[in-house]
Amino acid sequence: MTHENAGWNLENSFTQLPETFYSKIELNPVRSPELLIFNHYLAKELGLDAQALQKEMGVRVFAGNEIPENSVPIAQAYAGHQFGHFTMLGDGRALLIGEQITPSGKRYDIQLKGSGRTPYSRGGDGRASLGPMLREYIISEAMHALGIPTSRSLAVVTTGESVIRETELPGAILTRVASSHLRFGTFEYARKWGSEEELKALADYAIKRHYPDIQSNENPYLSLLQEVTKRQAELVAKWQLVGFIHGVMNTDNMTISGETIDYGPCAFMDEYDPETVFSSIDMNGRYAYRNQPPITNWNLARFAEALLPLLHEDSDQAVEIAEGAITKFPEYYNHHWIAGMRAKLGLFNEEKEDETLVKGLLELMEKYSADFTNTFRALTLEKYEEDLFDSADFNKWQEQWQARLDRQEESKETSQQLMRDHNPAVIPRNHRVEEALEAAVENEDYSVLERLLDVLERPYEYSLDQEKYAAPPEPSDRVYQTFCG
Ligand code: AMP
Ligand code: MG
Ligand code: MG
Repeated sequence: MTHENAGWNLENSFTQLPETFYSKIELNPVRSPELLIFNHYLAKELGLDAQALQKEMGVRVFAGNEIPENSVPIAQAYAGHQFGHFTMLGDGRALLIGEQITPSGKRYDIQLKGSGRTPYSRGGDGRASLGPMLREYIISEAMHALGIPTSRSLAVVTTGESVIRETELPGAILTRVASSHLRFGTFEYARKWGSEEELKALADYAIKRHYPDIQSNENPYLSLLQEVTKRQAELVAKWQLVGFIHGVMNTDNMTISGETIDYGPCAFMDEYDPETVFSSIDMNGRYAYRNQPPITNWNLARFAEALLPLLHEDSDQAVEIAEGAITKFPEYYNHHWIAGMRAKLGLFNEEKEDETLVKGLLELMEKYSADFTNTFRALTLEKYEEDLFDSADFNKWQEQWQARLDRQEESKETSQQLMRDHNPAVIPRNHRVEEALEAAVENEDYSVLERLLDVLERPYEYSLDQEKYAAPPEPSDRVYQTFCG
């Protein structure tokens, strides 16, 4: 059986929710699908047969031309606050083919992105172009390798059809894997258009799927809010610690699981500047690097509002309970952020002045426009080449840092190892990502992409062969803006 169906082992627990939460979808086959990238490691983790999947039948599944056994294709309904404004959304160009149960018993959504129109498509064509799907593949897999919770990418197929954007572009479909696609926006949808019973059904489902330990708590819905607050605080701290800018932190792009999803105009920062924004649609810098933690907190407030009827029957008390939970966010966030920064500086124990030390470095990095990743990389390697390191300011800071290191018991070697484990040597730099996409989309040359993916799999490995990928862009290669797909 497993052999014949390539290892698909699908369930459809989401379809047991009330029907307001999804629409069953007819397939929208594409003309001539071809497999462009395939993630062998992930296939194995999922219990899938990599060889079978790369054959025609497997590729037809990734293209949405055919469904595996026990698949019930659906599009999920959700709403969300987009740049602050509430609106109805839903999977307008994605299809959930089912939940793969892995050999170790884990459950993962298998979603096709770019699979055609759905009842939630509004004016859109339901399709995706190749560049953005490859971009999501590259960045999501890089995030995973960096140790940041994220949706994964199993495959990209081209469709043999064009999509019309500003120009005509090759169409593609990405197979996205996530521990679920439950979003803050799914709850906002339930609160706005569902009954209280439906909201409760959704919350019970989310708890069972992601936080089973809290099921028997006194107020499991409060526990849900608390757990999601903790996970999101940890997630955004991890973004900050590697200079990742999501770009579209709308509430429909925030997960209940605490995984990063929806890679659109996201990017990693080169020069450290807290105001950095890449997304061409983010005019006011709402989702700038420095705003990511407070925006997460704001988004959590929208999630909390959606949960209110479940928190307490008295609405005033419900508000009080919700506020009590989300006001903890800054504390959780700071905890993860400072812990991560200590590790980046090789510090094992805690001292009260550590935050001042870290902020002192960040101020210098900003002042000297130092590269975010390579500053920490240089501190790790004691290889001081940037302008920042020639300054008297830096020498003073370095003395303080050295004194701080000397006050801890751990040896220099252990401390440097800690730094290597927390300061990536390579990140998916925009100009490298753009270079790989250009070769793939314009010249059908996938070798640049393959080399990049290979290096990004081992971001904490300090070796000579990644020097090229570690280098920041030349001024002429700098990417200032990224676009939604
Ligand atoms: P995003 O900005 O990726 O979070 O998408 C916001 C909303 O627009 C979601 O409901 C998407 O499903 C929908 N959407 C994005 N692109 C398309 C498209 N080409 N066709 C239909 N819906 C789309
Ligand atoms: Mg989205
Ligand atoms: Mg998107």
